[in-house]
Amino acid sequence: MFIESFKVESPNVKYTEGEIHSAYNYETTELVHENRNGTYQWIVKPKSVQYEFKTETHVPKLGVMLVGWGGNNGSTLTGGVIANREGISWATKDKVQQANYFGSLTQASTIRVGSFNGEEIYAPFKSLLPMVNPDDVVFGGWDISDMNLADSMARAKVLDIDLQKQLRPYMESMVPLPGIFDPDFIAANQGSRANNVIKGTKKEQVQQVIKDIREFKEANKVDKVVVLWTANTERYSNVLEGLNDTMENLMASVERNESEISPSTLYGIACVLENVPYINGSPQNTFVPGLIDLAVQRNCLIGGDDFKSGQTKMKSVLVDFLVGAGIKPTSIVSYNHLGNNDGMNLSAPQTFRSKEISKSSVVDDMVSSNGILFEPGEHPDHVIVIKYVPYVGDSKRAMDEYTSEIFMGGKSTIAMHNTCEDSLLAAPIILDLVLLAELSTRIQLKAEGEGKFHSFHPVATILSYLTKAPLVPPGTPVVNALAKQRAMLENIMRACVGLAPENNMILEYK
Ligand code: NAD
Repeated sequence: MFIESFKVESPNVKYTEGEIHSAYNYETTELVHENRNGTYQWIVKPKSVQYEFKTETHVPKLGVMLVGWGGNNGSTLTGGVIANREGISWATKDKVQQANYFGSLTQASTIRVGSFNGEEIYAPFKSLLPMVNPDDVVFGGWDISDMNLADSMARAKVLDIDLQKQLRPYMESMVPLPGIFDPDFIAANQGSRANNVIKGTKKEQVQQVIKDIREFKEANKVDKVVVLWTANTERYSNVLEGLNDTMENLMASVERNESEISPSTLYGIACVLENVPYINGSPQNTFVPGLIDLAVQRNCLIGGDDFKSGQTKMKSVLVDFLVGAGIKPTSIVSYNHLGNNDGMNLSAPQTFRSKEISKSSVVDDMVSSNGILFEPGEHPDHVIVIKYVPYVGDSKRAMDEYTSEIFMGGKSTIAMHNTCEDSLLAAPIILDLVLLAELSTRIQLKAEGEGKFHSFHPVATILSYLTKAPLVPPGTPVVNALAKQRAMLENIMRACVGLAPENNMILEYK
């Protein structure tokens, strides 16, 4: 059964004028490796830590500025949100289609609340905590091409034509701000697009982006802004001592107009200086150590990298299933072909390399979780191929072959073929990223013994369900397995309203 909303009643939860307070018992374990009577043993001690959470319930008016606003993702998301807000429906060859938010974790998925008369009760994911309604988000942003959003939508060839006709009047007047362009970081084939660029030194470009954010906030009367990079994939930037390894060195490099500081890092610097959350939806190493350092010093949320949309999402489910079932994946080969501008940009070796790196590490945590199947350091063969095929446009093809060793030396091969518009997968993920980033800035917590409430670590691992190569604070584990990422997010949100983590034990019926 489905319910729209619920309220938690518990001595551990208090709803005040503007906040939800929850006292929460975090059940965890402490491990020690000790010499006991001459042999080393692992000792596991269950441990309970008292936490307090407080969540601001006032939902701000949110502005979202996209870097690469006029791209396929940017125009698809903007059109999709307008269609939802305006209640637009359109004729397809099959039926009259209503606008929806399918594919969005926050808007279209549910959580289990409990059992009632022998029935499982589910509520919307978004009913856990007060969140911004995507219909109310104001969009803006930058693009190195000055094409308006209506024409961008037409160029993208993603949304149905009858829908495009209805959206055009809303989107014609939306024109991206000039963007920071550096041809050295993206494929040479993108040069002809760049007719809308910020001039000046790197320092002046950062200052311009800060000015743009302030003016956007003012003009649209929004309380908060989140910035998200959905522009072209850049090549990796070199990380060098003295260049971008610390906050001081990075800022000094901007002053010196160092060529190796990428546009995506420059937007990041601007956002952090302005205390605006910044998320990277592409695979490159935008978050060089100096930028992470700056974000940590200024306690500004950063998140990334690379949207986890199609093939990788499947991979982080399938390999988790295989390894979790005691089956040993030994070869994973992923072919992609796509014909959109992203595909054209990825046809250059340096930008492809960024994508290859991002797609490669996605099974590492699952492989290292099973020392029965894999020797230390052993990995399945894992190969990624991406080809540009203009005819298929945004409708990306992803073909994967998983070969595994099974019982008694047997082999199992699973082949998968996925065809889908890439931007229709990415748009709801962008929405979730910005909505959850905003929510996360309203949550504070403290563990027992900590004097003061604090926000989450500025490197937002809470967003990792939505990213291919989750950015984590230095020295912390990366989790790629999709179910674990979802459970982490859901359980933290449950903790904020004093609900126990979903443990699936269903002891009531045992
Ligand atoms: P796109 O090429 O259609 O859009 C990118 C836009 O960014 C273009 O309009 C381009 O003019 C603009 N741009 C490039 N450099 C810029 C800069 N420095 N400043 C401002 N604008 C700039 O690509 P897309 O299909 O929308 O994808 C966007 C990004 O998202 C790509 O990097 C892609 O790899 C990544 N991504 C997409 C998916 C997906 O499923 N669609 C999944 C993961 C990652």
